Amino acid sequence: MAPIRLHDTRSGELRELVPRADGHVGIYACGPTVYGRIHVGNARPFVVNSLLKRFLVHEGHDVTLVINITDVNDKIYDAARPLGVPSADLAAEMAGHYIADTDGLELGRPDSEPLASDTIGAIVALIAELIERGHAYAVDGDVLFRVRSDPEYGSLSRRSIDDMNQGEGVEGTERKEDPLDFALWKAHKEGEDTVWPTPWGRGRPGWHIECSAMAEERLGVGFQIHGGGNDLVFPHHENEAAQTRMARDAELAQIWMHNGMLQFGEEKMAKSVGNVIALHEVLDDGGPNALIMLFAGAHYRQPMAFDDVRLKEARARVERVRDAARGLVDGESPADMRHLRDTFFEALAQDFNTPAALAALFDWISERHKRDEPVGRADLIEMLSVLGLQSLAEHDGEAGAEEQELLHRRVAARAAGDYAEADRLRDELRGRGWEVRDGAAGPQLVRIEG
Ligand SMILES: [Zn+2]
Repeated sequence: MAPIRLHDTRSGELRELVPRADGHVGIYACGPTVYGRIHVGNARPFVVNSLLKRFLVHEGHDVTLVINITDVNDKIYDAARPLGVPSADLAAEMAGHYIADTDGLELGRPDSEPLASDTIGAIVALIAELIERGHAYAVDGDVLFRVRSDPEYGSLSRRSIDDMNQGEGVEGTERKEDPLDFALWKAHKEGEDTVWPTPWGRGRPGWHIECSAMAEERLGVGFQIHGGGNDLVFPHHENEAAQTRMARDAELAQIWMHNGMLQFGEEKMAKSVGNVIALHEVLDDGGPNALIMLFAGAHYRQPMAFDDVRLKEARARVERVRDAARGLVDGESPADMRHLRDTFFEALAQDFNTPAALAALFDWISERHKRDEPVGRADLIEMLSVLGLQSLAEHDGEAGAEEQELLHRRVAARAAGDYAEADRLRDELRGRGWEVRDGAAGPQLVRIEG
């Protein structure tokens, strides 16, 4: 098994992935806070971590991918209030949308998708342990983490402790021993409609402790990879790491892997900026393949530009792969093309470099076009499967009776010189995911991106 290296935010270096003694690899990635439909930018960590899991499984690892759902959070209270609905109802509705929207990516589900609201017992126990060890203190029903009691605080985001601001605002500052301390538990406030009892009062958890508890409950501590967007490095992940370190005398994760933000126009795509495009809109328009091709075309650590032009380019690349696959035969690929398949997997082993891997895949396709003899599809399917694009190498299948009927009507319209009607029928077929191509045996229907 070739060594796999990934960039670790904490060390700032590539680190070799070291599975657990039994060969298991655990990945935890921070999932959405469910207060609205997710946008394309939110889908990036889902895609990156789902593809990473596919690659690690391909390399022979036993992988558990956990992506949580944050369903107790200030943003949910704030969104539910003006709607006049209970926050738990809004969270449940949006969690349902999140599942359906990401199902549209056709990458399968993570192995585990814990809800914060289902993890309250573990959260309260973790906070109690931090209080017991002197790393947290209760004040007026809040529980605060004593940041300066962690000598390694700041080691993940690699910034000086004096340059930090938890972003919790000025409210309650007078109750903090130190302005840097952050909330593990928040006392119940007017207008918050989910509340749980604890030894230090009724209230609800802070965001950071939710993830420490959910990750540990599903994967134990010291698991292999903690992922998420690079906007979460500070304070969210710094605080997750500190909580677990101080409660368990162990690091939460070995490698902290962060994906770059999606850029739309000049800025990152974010609800707070107001430049979001819903994931389901993109998938309804063009299906998952072009979007995944677009994601895979950028290195996960880099910012990624998203717009219609780039999506169209990605669609063209998808068609190029599908076209190339059409002429292949079942069975082994030529041995003298094997090095291109090897280059693909070597690129993924070196910091999950999907653009370099894709370049190798397209080299394979160029090489295939130079060959007159039949070329077997096995290597192409192997590469596409890791990217979640294996359907591109599947046989087109037969168009349905309705599509065949539309094709016949188009042939008749052209024969009658009614080109407007012929074009309309061509467009209708396109909308159904079929393109008319003229071949030696007359017009044929081939599968395209719907
Ligand atoms: Zn998290």
